[in-house]
Amino acid sequence: MWNYSYILPSFMVLLIFLNYYFSKPRLSIRINIVFLQLIVTELIVLFFDVSASLADEHYRSLPTYLVFALNLGYFVSYLARAYLFYCFTAALFGISNGKNSSFITNFPVFAASELITLSSVFTGAVFTVTEEGYKRGPLYEILYFCFAYYLASSIFILLKKRSQVSHKEFMGVGTFNIILVIGNIIRMLFPSYLVMNTFCLMAIIIIYLSFQNPEYYQAHNEGIFNNDAFERLLKEITDKKIYSILAFQIRNYNELREIYSRSQVKRITADIGNYLNSIKSPGEAFYLTNGAFALLFPKEQPLKPAHLKLSERFEGPWDLENGEVYLEISFVRILPGNLLNTAEKVLNGLSDALSRISDGGETEILVDAETLDRLEHLTEVKRALEYSVEEDLVEVFLQPLIDCSTGNTVGAEALARIRDAEGKLIPPGEFIPLAEKNGRIAALGEQVFEKVCAFIKEHDISKAGLAWINVNVSPLQCLRKDLSEHFLGILERYGVSAHKIHLELTEECLVDYKLLKEQVENMQKIGLRFALDDYGTGYSNLARLKHFPFINVKLDMSVVDDYYKEPDDILPTLVQTFKSMGFSVTAEGIENEEMAAAMKRIGCDFLQGYYFSKPLPMEEFVNKYPLLTATKSG
Ligand code: C2E
Ligand code: MG
Ligand code: MG
Repeated sequence: MWNYSYILPSFMVLLIFLNYYFSKPRLSIRINIVFLQLIVTELIVLFFDVSASLADEHYRSLPTYLVFALNLGYFVSYLARAYLFYCFTAALFGISNGKNSSFITNFPVFAASELITLSSVFTGAVFTVTEEGYKRGPLYEILYFCFAYYLASSIFILLKKRSQVSHKEFMGVGTFNIILVIGNIIRMLFPSYLVMNTFCLMAIIIIYLSFQNPEYYQAHNEGIFNNDAFERLLKEITDKKIYSILAFQIRNYNELREIYSRSQVKRITADIGNYLNSIKSPGEAFYLTNGAFALLFPKEQPLKPAHLKLSERFEGPWDLENGEVYLEISFVRILPGNLLNTAEKVLNGLSDALSRISDGGETEILVDAETLDRLEHLTEVKRALEYSVEEDLVEVFLQPLIDCSTGNTVGAEALARIRDAEGKLIPPGEFIPLAEKNGRIAALGEQVFEKVCAFIKEHDISKAGLAWINVNVSPLQCLRKDLSEHFLGILERYGVSAHKIHLELTEECLVDYKLLKEQVENMQKIGLRFALDDYGTGYSNLARLKHFPFINVKLDMSVVDDYYKEPDDILPTLVQTFKSMGFSVTAEGIENEEMAAAMKRIGCDFLQGYYFSKPLPMEEFVNKYPLLTATKSG
């Protein structure tokens, strides 16, 4: 009875096979191909299992070679099935055999098991059929071993790479593998119950429900594939390196959704889907989401013909139930050439281009290898920024400020640094704008401020002749109403005198001076001072500066450099004006002796630049100024 318990599920597998085989469109990706091989193999196993069982029972009335052949067919397909279940897990996790993404991975155990089984013809290793009928051989256990080996490999991959798949996929793979483990154990403990088929059928049904339902990869009624299918196919193709993509975005898609009903918008996207189906060859068509479509050509393909056809088609109207509508589209061409670009990198490039279209209405964007590299770098910087801010890893470098009259170091500017995954420094020009964009600037600025306070607490800076340290404040930080409270809190926590810190603000900070006024007054009351940074890069209004309690103006290095290359009367006059307004003046970007002399001559009070020192990590700064003695316990 047990032996035939799989007859009903086997009908189900047959139905799955037919449904799957005739469903359209079907995506030609590895997991689909392996699945098809798996159900065909399963049907073969079932055939041999039933026929070999019958032949074993009635061996007296059948020729020996036939009984042998049917049993051999069973064992060979049984082992193939074990291997294919493993291949399915491997394909889902993108495990391939080297760079050419061969389907065949982890092959030797399977090959050896099959060879041993085939050798039974001569050796009787796995089984024999004699006049007394079918009998197991000494290596019969190889069946269990092979299955167990591939199950263990699947579970190993599953646990090691779980972050690569969605929770749903993880559960699907986990469940079918556990079912197979249970089946294998029962079969080993009770070899007379041939239950393995039933468990394998259950596993196939789970795979079908979790991964192979044709709807899984289809965009609802657009008649083409969806975003998941696009990502999966791309992952496989990028292994092989050659492909090109023509994507387009309906620019007025959001408007469309506001004006027309859901069903009308669906009808339009379905019509576009049908149209793409008619021109997609030799590629595949996808509906990505939100009015974006893509044609993916798994070859190096000139995109011009498809591009022209689409442009022409979109010059005409699209039908609605009672009327018609014109759509504007923007194209994205992705031509990574033969460079090895990961799918993630390409998807990143595409989504960046599509969002640029939605934001700014560009009509044509080319995403080439260079764009992808730039975006990848940006992603890396974003990741490093998040990590450094989150883990308190923002580093502070110090660059000396030199007093013109004595030539001594009288202060330093604190400059933020973060590191990428390999430990290389990322300059602030790359991460400060990102931090300002994603709101991390406040936390970052606070970290720098705090680390400077800790430095001042730990080192008696006055012993080395340093009177203060400058800390940069971003315009976006200035918008925070509680900025002064934060700074004051930190100063108190470290017991550091506010006089030892100067805050560098740029002109942008002063745009909303009303907002800033109260905070500035609070900060000023407890002794913080202010310097105007990067003078000469914005639209300076001297009258406005007069109302702000700056003590120092820092000339931007571009201004210094211009004067150095082409001296005139403007800068000297300006320096004198600042001084008459009561500000001291610092010149930034001093790279050589002549620059230093020129700036000194026109009346600058302080100098900063590579000529004196590059910004240094705090430890190096301490080594450079040995008089920075450590002050124990504050
Ligand atoms: P900045 O405040 O104007 O800082 C001076 C910049 O000029 C520094 O660049 C410094 O390394 C560079 N520099 C100094 N001397 C020379 C020189 O002789 N030649 C050349 N070519 N460059 C010189 P860095 O460290 O890359 O910082 C760039 C900008 O990033 C800073 O300009 C500042 O606006 C911003 N920044 C740095 N740290 C922070 C921070 O903690 N918070 C905020 N909000 N901004 C920061
Ligand atoms: Mg600065
Ligand atoms: Mg500056």
